[in-house]
Amino acid sequence: MKDTKRVIVLGATGSIGKSSLDVIRSNPDAFTVAGLSAHSDMRALSALREEFPAASSVLSGTDGEPALLAMIRDTGADVVVNGIAGASGLLPSVAALESGKDLALANKETVVMAGPLIRSLADRTGRAILPVDSEHSAVFSLIEAYGHDAVSEIILTASGGPFRTWDEDRIRSATPADALRHPTWSMGSKITIDSASLANKGLEVIEAVRLFGLSPDAVKVVVHPESLVHSFIRTRDGVLYAQVSHPDMRHPILSALFWPKPQDNDLRPLSFDEAFSMHFEPPRRQAFPMLALAYRAASLGCLYPVCYNAANEIAVECFLAGSLPFGGIPELVALVMDGDWSTEPSNFGDVLEADRRARGIARQYVKERAW
Ligand code: NDP
Ligand code: MG
Repeated sequence: MKDTKRVIVLGATGSIGKSSLDVIRSNPDAFTVAGLSAHSDMRALSALREEFPAASSVLSGTDGEPALLAMIRDTGADVVVNGIAGASGLLPSVAALESGKDLALANKETVVMAGPLIRSLADRTGRAILPVDSEHSAVFSLIEAYGHDAVSEIILTASGGPFRTWDEDRIRSATPADALRHPTWSMGSKITIDSASLANKGLEVIEAVRLFGLSPDAVKVVVHPESLVHSFIRTRDGVLYAQVSHPDMRHPILSALFWPKPQDNDLRPLSFDEAFSMHFEPPRRQAFPMLALAYRAASLGCLYPVCYNAANEIAVECFLAGSLPFGGIPELVALVMDGDWSTEPSNFGDVLEADRRARGIARQYVKERAW
């Protein structure tokens, strides 16, 4: 029998977690579930405990964060899929690498908040960070194929979200129901709102800069409503290379879990038996200020990306709760970013401290202002 990879799935009850478990179920010779985590969905976790009785498991909302980190450290596994939503994913990523496991990383916040620190931790422990975010998975594979030195820029594709064609006034007053209607991808609610404001693409620009060691000028964004091209690289001779498949997160999850070698799988390949079209257009930067704010955060570096992410998480929470209009999301993030975030964090504690500080400032602005 071939060796199976032992996989810990964090955020097993979420969108990424479910797709990861699907992939594991469909490839029983290749993967086994070694560990599982959820935060509050006890019923769904109980069902998974019955299905995977040998796996360790934690309900972090009840058992506490230390129990989650201990489970990651103490469970024998080869790779950890981090499908936790938001900044809470950072320490689990650290625990995975510190305990000698590869990190299949959907939690983009890990890299946005602590890119340089997490990369040097991976270097020190000799473990791999395998991006699961579809754009970064595409770029990662293309860079592996062509070599980092050959790349002059990368072009991240964006679906454009539900407001791609809306005018600015209409976007400003969009409701949560409007923003939760994503045209191509089915995902958790936080990332779906971020896709509508283009904050998700903003986070991905920062993620790419920090993950691939590129300057912000070398990371471009193009709107591509069909979400078939997952990203491009441009090589020094000016030529573009793309990764193309149906928009299905099981593709990037499979390539992270099967890394370093692509394998046959049961996913439906994109076929040319029927005609289809692909469209590309530049993003409307004026209508979606979260994109420019992300470039600013990426250029300034230090704690600015932490601030961008934290202020946006509070903004989305308040938008969903009805205390902030959609147009208030970039306004709030810009206000918090006007503070001083110019210290380079020297450890993960500094990052978490800045995250708490940015959240506090953001909440205060939401309370004090008439939105
Ligand atoms: P979901 O909201 O669908 O799932 C989040 C998961 O994390 C759930 O299992 C949830 O548990 C758990 N969780 C929530 N809060 C905490 C916490 N404080 N501590 C520990 N666990 C927690 O999110 P997605 O799957 O959509 O996204 C997960 C991550 O992957 C995000 O960083 C997102 O940006 C990234 N990503 C997602 C994509 C997608 O297609 N969904 C695509 C690319 C990246 P419970 O269910 O018990 O609340
Ligand atoms: Mg993505």
